[in-house]
Amino acid sequence: MARGVNNESVRAQNLSAVLTHVHRCGRLSRSDLTAATGLNRSTVGVLVTELVERGLLIEGDPVARGTPGRPSPSVQPAERGAAGLAVDVGVATIGLAVGGIGGALEQRTVIDRASERRGPEATADDVAALIMEVTVSLGRPVVGIGVAVPGVVRRGDGLVRTAANLGWRDVPFTDLLTARLGQPCPPVLLGNDAELGATAEHLRGAGAGVDDLLYLLGGIGVGGGIIAGGRPFGGAAGYAGEVGHLVVNPMGQECSCGGRGCLETEVGQAALLRRLGRPVTPEGESRVQLLADAAAGDPEVRTVLAEAGTWLGRAVTSLANVLNPSRVLLAGLFAAAYPHLLDTLQPEVDGQTQWPNRAVMTIAPATLGEEAVLLGAAELALAPLLADPTAADRLPTGGRAS
Ligand SMILES: [Zn+2]
Repeated sequence: MARGVNNESVRAQNLSAVLTHVHRCGRLSRSDLTAATGLNRSTVGVLVTELVERGLLIEGDPVARGTPGRPSPSVQPAERGAAGLAVDVGVATIGLAVGGIGGALEQRTVIDRASERRGPEATADDVAALIMEVTVSLGRPVVGIGVAVPGVVRRGDGLVRTAANLGWRDVPFTDLLTARLGQPCPPVLLGNDAELGATAEHLRGAGAGVDDLLYLLGGIGVGGGIIAGGRPFGGAAGYAGEVGHLVVNPMGQECSCGGRGCLETEVGQAALLRRLGRPVTPEGESRVQLLADAAAGDPEVRTVLAEAGTWLGRAVTSLANVLNPSRVLLAGLFAAAYPHLLDTLQPEVDGQTQWPNRAVMTIAPATLGEEAVLLGAAELALAPLLADPTAADRLPTGGRAS
């Protein structure tokens, strides 16, 4: 049966369009906002006034324009407005930041965690403690908590089906965290770290304006994110993008997934360290040392990275032939080691990718660095508010500034 749209739905949808545009673009004139949203001038005026009253936007001095006529007042995100908490659960660290409308991250904190605290219960304890420490003095309404995990996350309920590098399987992390935060609690939303990194690069980094994007994140393992037609591609249940388990070398090492010769076992940080005979640790220092040795011209490290470039090129080729991205972004370890990978990666891609796919594709390092995953997690946290700015009315009072 066809369904109509009532006035309240139209209003919420228009508020969402205006708030989302300012969130993505930052400060702009009201006339540019009118043009971008396709709404009429007086409607935009009413919507902006409502979003200002809700503490989400502020109006400022007119933006100077080159054209004659009355200058148009500026509209920008309210710096001390609603916040989304962004959490990045890594193997060796937990990161947290406060993300606001407009995309700025503040109060960024990173803690190291010992291997015995990588289980689900201890992780939930540590994340909850960090969240409570930040929110106690925040003085801003928290509209959501976005959590990035290095694993396969079920869409809808956020069940972590598997996170091999943490040793997790079927962990209801949303429930574990919510139980520790107590009621009332803003919505807790979980996502895969690489998928969130891809979203951030798509919105604010090297993938801005690129609607078909492939993102490869090198960490201890290898993660991937796919943006297709301007939207994250998650597949049937949200499990898509596991490029780390693309088989590139059937003669390769056994993988934590049960397979053999996955991309992760050839080019992840653990794989590179193992090949160099170095201790396999998830800590950042081992990566820093690896990159320093590569920069200093260590022949053994250079050789291992050159081999990694070939395997990575092979993966990019297969993925490009299937997905037809216009940009491939290499992030994390792959962005840092980019100059040492390129000499072998590029010929592999050029020689093996179907030429029509190759012709429309560029490969580049990601630009948001370590912040990408947190920025993506902040997007997740703010998503319910952006989708319906009146949702803040329905927040539990404990989630709002007093
Ligand atoms: Zn695997």
